[in-house]
Amino acid sequence: MIDEKCANSPIGPGATIGVLGSGQLGRMFAIAARRMGYRVHTFSPDYDTPTGQIADVEVVAPYDDLRAVANFARQASVVTFEFENVPTATAEAAARYAPVRPKGSILHTTQQRIREKAFLKNAGLPVTPYREIRSLYELQQAVFELGCPAILKTAAFGYDGKGQFRIESPDHMSEGWNAIGRQEAVLEAFIDFEREISVVAARGEDGQFVHYGAIENQHSRHILDVSIAPARVTTALANEAVEMTRCVLERLGVVGVLCVEFFVTRDAKLLINELAPRPHNSGHFTVDACVTSQFEQQLRAVCGLRLGSTEMHRPAAMANLLGDLWATGEPDWTAAAAFPDVKLHLYGKLEPRPGRKMGHLTALNQDPEEAYRTVLNARQSLTR
Ligand code: AMP
Repeated sequence: MIDEKCANSPIGPGATIGVLGSGQLGRMFAIAARRMGYRVHTFSPDYDTPTGQIADVEVVAPYDDLRAVANFARQASVVTFEFENVPTATAEAAARYAPVRPKGSILHTTQQRIREKAFLKNAGLPVTPYREIRSLYELQQAVFELGCPAILKTAAFGYDGKGQFRIESPDHMSEGWNAIGRQEAVLEAFIDFEREISVVAARGEDGQFVHYGAIENQHSRHILDVSIAPARVTTALANEAVEMTRCVLERLGVVGVLCVEFFVTRDAKLLINELAPRPHNSGHFTVDACVTSQFEQQLRAVCGLRLGSTEMHRPAAMANLLGDLWATGEPDWTAAAAFPDVKLHLYGKLEPRPGRKMGHLTALNQDPEEAYRTVLNARQSLTR
């Protein structure tokens, strides 16, 4: 079945791309795909979704409805995903009818912190010191070994700081163990980092590798707040981060886009925090600032096309717009539009909840510092 779909020859415009998941990443992917004349089908349990509003077809079914998944994959020339917590069985069911890129085994590795960290360690890459936790006793041992503060993170289904508890002192161990639901976890040493950076990169079927350089990220309440590209780090450090990223994509055999998030320690060492096997929030600036966006790059990779240039037209800074901005009513969009070098992106989400990613702004400027100041000003102007 998959051979009939010519897994190894390029999939051209007019073909249907299946997207598992229906959030903003799928939306921006779908915009890139439709612009190039592809059809997009999206699959998730929700209606009128950010991706569904752009896609040709929105399939609404639970991820464990494997018959619906099979039907969906039958109609696609290739299936990709926009959110890594798609169950492995779903990716496997789709793979019976269409190539799934990146392949399901990559999801399997990256959707569970213990497996992900083991992969990175085996590849000789530096990770935050950690211990595997399966009981309160193991947590006690680990806190003793790693010291406090430390961060307890559920092994599975964590993102944007969900499923995390900061252990300030040994007195908080039981509270932390209960707070994360007494489930398999990792305890990480707290890193007093100098800054955080990420590298968004893509790998083609033929092994071609491209990247967008080091991006600097600032988080607030564990959620990405602002990204600046290029990152304010030395060229040597940026190159080192890119080479580690290349190693990750090659070892995993990624066909698609993957993001590596790093801590930069105060003595200028890199530690990998986590991997996201898909376009990433820190790469949103590429839509406005680069020859080929991370979403078009994902499309090109999964369709077996040559990857596009990652050249930046101008440095950029991106600020997320969370649901909190709606606290006193609809933000003033005309204020953002008054900034000529700022681009507004809204994801079509109907309900603005606190912490929910509703959109983002990207500011472009020859000077990344100026782009950073402008994007913060533009965001502030929305609620003045
Ligand atoms: P995560 O969901 O693991 O990417 O965590 C979200 C954010 O929380 C990171 O980007 C950091 O800002 C912070 N964080 C997570 N783990 C650590 C750690 N071990 N030390 C210090 N900060 C952390």
